[in-house]
Amino acid sequence: MQENEIFRPTKAIIDLSAIRHNIVNLRKHLHSDVSVIAVVKANAYGHGDVQVAKEALKAGATILAVATPEEALHLRQEIPHTPIMILGASPIVFAPIAAKEAIILTVFSEDWVRKVSPLAKDFEQPLKVHIKVDSGMNRIGVRQEKELQAVYDAAKMVNNIEVDGIFTHFATADEENQEQYEMQLAIFQKMIASLPEKPRLVHAANTAAALVKESAQFDAVRFGISMYGLAPSTYIEENLPYPLKEALALESELVHVKKIQKGDRVGYGGTYIAKEDEWIGTLPIGYADGLLRCLSGQEVLIEGVRVPIVGRICMDQCMVRLPKKYEIGEKVTLIGKQHGNEIHIQEWAERLQTIVYEIPCMISERVPRVYKEQ
Ligand SMILES: *Cc1c(COP(=O)(O)O)cnc(C)c1O
Repeated sequence: MQENEIFRPTKAIIDLSAIRHNIVNLRKHLHSDVSVIAVVKANAYGHGDVQVAKEALKAGATILAVATPEEALHLRQEIPHTPIMILGASPIVFAPIAAKEAIILTVFSEDWVRKVSPLAKDFEQPLKVHIKVDSGMNRIGVRQEKELQAVYDAAKMVNNIEVDGIFTHFATADEENQEQYEMQLAIFQKMIASLPEKPRLVHAANTAAALVKESAQFDAVRFGISMYGLAPSTYIEENLPYPLKEALALESELVHVKKIQKGDRVGYGGTYIAKEDEWIGTLPIGYADGLLRCLSGQEVLIEGVRVPIVGRICMDQCMVRLPKKYEIGEKVTLIGKQHGNEIHIQEWAERLQTIVYEIPCMISERVPRVYKEQ
């Protein structure tokens, strides 16, 4: 969406140069022959899949990864040639479409391969698959060498299926304790060694492993959360090999300002009661935009000063207590920097007792994403 089509002043501003910075620095940190898979699932963690994917490719990523067939097809409309990989399970009916669109599928079941094989003679080009090894996360993947062997052999028997890669996923790479990580790594290495031939692309690392664990680099790393400038955990934040730049800011404007008297109540339920005569501002953003009701009390920035959201957050609007009168149109920053002060996504995550990943994903589609490059 172009900025000039936006009427309501609430918007997420995505700094593409931050995304570029985060990838360029990752590439300097990795061994020179390691490829970067840019993870742009869930609309690029809420940042906008196509714009982020294009920027990631400019910055040196060579493969895109998503979670679902729908996400892969959405990207394919705008990005014609780059390999796009689906990290989750895909249904059998999607296999011919994946082959046609050069979408790489994740496989982990012999049965799946056997059911796809009769369709393969009609594929327009070979279907590339990466075999998923479950080394201890217990989500998806083959758990035993003989299972791996069976999937591998079944795939190798089909002319139009190409085993292009093998991968696994770590459950604890963002933690200081290395125990489960080491165990998963050992299992994965043993599984690869059991194959007659190493597939072209072996990959294991997510952001956390890519940033702090050299042993996990293999042929490629899957770079997600820190591409957006966010650290996967406090432990990783404290051990970052280079500073990250946060890509997302959430901004709005005051649409109404008034003085209320001591004892006046604000919002549904009248839960906020003015302790004295107070200036109250209204923002055009609410829980339907992702500003969840339990964020009441969270602060926003106006002229670099923190002011609190007061009363219950409504579906489309919320109120803030102002230190003085402000004009309509005064800029309000809910996430990001303003006049040397900053509200970090981590602050919302703590308030909501969750991880930073959830915050940009939760900013709803109603909030336009506006891109800046500089
Ligand atoms: C989401 C996902 C990633 C990216 O994880 P980050 O922690 O955001 O880097 C990597 N691999 C798989 C399989 C995933 O599902």
